Amino acid sequence: MTVRIGVLALQGDVREHRHALEAAGAATATVRTEADLAAVDGIVIPGGESTTMSRLLGVFDLFDPLRDALAAGLPAYGSCAGMILLASEVLDTRPDARCLGAIDMTVRRNAFGRQVDSFETDLAVTGVDGDPVRAVFIRAPWVERVGEGVEVLARVPAEAGATAGTVVAVQQGVTMATSFHPEVTGDLRIHRRFVDMVRRR
Ligand code: GLN
Repeated sequence: MTVRIGVLALQGDVREHRHALEAAGAATATVRTEADLAAVDGIVIPGGESTTMSRLLGVFDLFDPLRDALAAGLPAYGSCAGMILLASEVLDTRPDARCLGAIDMTVRRNAFGRQVDSFETDLAVTGVDGDPVRAVFIRAPWVERVGEGVEVLARVPAEAGATAGTVVAVQQGVTMATSFHPEVTGDLRIHRRFVDMVRRR
């Protein structure tokens, strides 16, 4: 069965996610309107700038429909800025930035910036078999608190030094989020994990 996955296309690295999803066996579509949203089996919120995406969700009259669709069980995956938007609480953001509350977690924006802006490391991710995942972090958030229903999928490994142990991938129900950008590495396993989850649904 072919699943149709939308990529929120207001801002950010939309094309990279579409390529990865298609390579992982899904049909894809861009989502900019409520009608687009109604036509997809799952949605990806890409990396980019979360405060800009938050503002554009309002401008495009998509904030409430998207929040309601997520609350009603639309599967979602957010990377980096997408993780920030899926959170229930965001630290170090603009006072007018809103988040969608699809995962019961507190994330801190640009959190690694205090150590180093951008970096790469290898991670073990729950549900991803084989070699570790090469994780690319670009002005990334980290997860400071997770609620009871949230599964931690990955933490920064000990070799990474000061930030070791930091939570960087989570899942709650059919909603996944990563601080890093699997769409830029050519490793399809995170996208495949999401596509499989949407397909099983
Ligand atoms: N720092 C960005 C934000 O706050 C996220 C960066 C990214 O998505 N690569 O939204």
